[in-house]
Amino acid sequence: MSVTPAVDAGHDPRTGERRAGLAHTTPDELAAILDRAVQAAPVVAGTAPATRAAWLDAVADGLEAHADELVAIADAETALGSPRLPGELAKAAAQARFYGSVAAEGSFVDARIDTAGGPAGVDLRRARRPVGPVAVFGASNFPFGFGVAGHDTCSALAAGCPVVVKAHPAHPELSGRLAQVVADALTSAGAPEGAFALVVGFDSGLALVDADQVAAVGFTGSQTGGMALVERAAARPRPIPVYAEMGTVNPAVVTRAGAAGRAEDIACGFVESFTLGAGQFCTKPGLLLVPAGSEIGARVADLVAERDGAHALTQGIAAAYATGRSDLEAAGARVLADGRTPGAGNAVQAVLAQVDAKALTPGSRLLEECFGPLALVVEYASDDQRDQLLTTLQPSLAAAVASGGEGDTEVACVVELLSHQVGRVVVDGWPTGVAGTWAQHHGGPWPATSRPDATSVGAAALDRFTRPVAYQDVPASALPPELTDDNPWGLPRRMDGRLQQSGDSDSDGGGGSRGGAA
Ligand code: NAP
Repeated sequence: MSVTPAVDAGHDPRTGERRAGLAHTTPDELAAILDRAVQAAPVVAGTAPATRAAWLDAVADGLEAHADELVAIADAETALGSPRLPGELAKAAAQARFYGSVAAEGSFVDARIDTAGGPAGVDLRRARRPVGPVAVFGASNFPFGFGVAGHDTCSALAAGCPVVVKAHPAHPELSGRLAQVVADALTSAGAPEGAFALVVGFDSGLALVDADQVAAVGFTGSQTGGMALVERAAARPRPIPVYAEMGTVNPAVVTRAGAAGRAEDIACGFVESFTLGAGQFCTKPGLLLVPAGSEIGARVADLVAERDGAHALTQGIAAAYATGRSDLEAAGARVLADGRTPGAGNAVQAVLAQVDAKALTPGSRLLEECFGPLALVVEYASDDQRDQLLTTLQPSLAAAVASGGEGDTEVACVVELLSHQVGRVVVDGWPTGVAGTWAQHHGGPWPATSRPDATSVGAAALDRFTRPVAYQDVPASALPPELTDDNPWGLPRRMDGRLQQSGDSDSDGGGGSRGGAA
């Protein structure tokens, strides 16, 4: 009797029609993938960062060369459309190149050498070394940015770690095709077999988290999923870190001067931001705090009522959105406006609801994410009440302040309060849209992430996949290339406390190196 293999089957969000499936990885296939990753680990770690940068350039080239095909598959599986998907692919290619450039620059290694003649009295050398194979779980809502070839994959490869990605069931065909493109690019650029692989199926994901061969997990997704993996990894005989980037309610605070001077601009910007991508952004501003008596809430409601329906990525997300709305209403939210009646498939409509400030108490459902185009508006009666609210909210990935512009004296206080609660504060802009650059931080205190010290976007994303090791009186022949006297990788290094840029004999730092701030 033949057994039909289990598959992750995609669905067209616009119609609900089932699409091609991707067969689940079998336990034997998974074991072989992990063996190859372990074999590859020392080779990837021992490859010069500049060479790994060339691998990532090849990945970026591969994404761009197959852009039309990849975007078409992504659109059929996510309905995110154009210009969103071509833009996200272009950004993913730029990200791959960026992470390579961060590796090649070398300060992420944070190499330090204290010579034997110094205060330590011994020869002490410290570097951040790659941890080994990394398991990556991407999210449904960024098929390129946080998908198979997204931030986690590229930053882990840049840091010197093999990657095994678990395909997302919301876009299986895209995951499979992206994996081919990435694997072909890496092979053509000279990366070893085992540097990258894809596994498919829920059980394969769990097996990755349990596998002895896996040294760390990068996760982007829901709080339920992230915390399940954190707990699972902690229960291993040898626990490993799970860098879970999850979903939160990101507050947007309108100051009194902002409400007085920029009401229309703020209302329009807020609606654009919270409905972007059918509200399926981890950085969606989900809670708008406005001064009592402001006209902004009513204006936002008018704009929401004119909004067209959109399609959730999956039937499950559409159903969870409907449940989330009911739960919020049960917790005290009063609906001010519904968007236009949506069409077929996984249709969702925009919603604006109002809540009383006093209902925002710790533990309330009102403080948790509702993934989709729904936002809450709350009025604060005084600055004291606003500030008290800001410390009651759950920590989040990002927050926005809509001010009255230069000279708005409320801004400094609000920014300071928010900076204790969130990973990123935006003034006179919206949190949706995250630049992947040197100074970015995309993280935050729990429940935004499982690791408040970590970011999944920006140069510091590599840090998650390295671990500092000190070598004391270790002979040169036994040192890793990061720390030998000849500095074969041309890394910036701190010699007896003084930063040396690559090529310098002695320098006080500067030059834009992260090592300069160590
Ligand atoms: P999700 O349902 O948590 O899925 C993410 C991945 O984890 C999928 O591969 C999923 O596989 C797996 N997974 C989920 N629960 C699991 C469990 N209990 N055990 C093992 N594997 C599990 O999240 P999503 O729907 O893809 O993404 C939407 C969420 O991600 C939203 O909350 C959004 O705010 C958040 N998000 C956060 C960021 C960020 O950077 N912080 C970025 C984008 C999205 P299966 O489906 O096979 O279970």
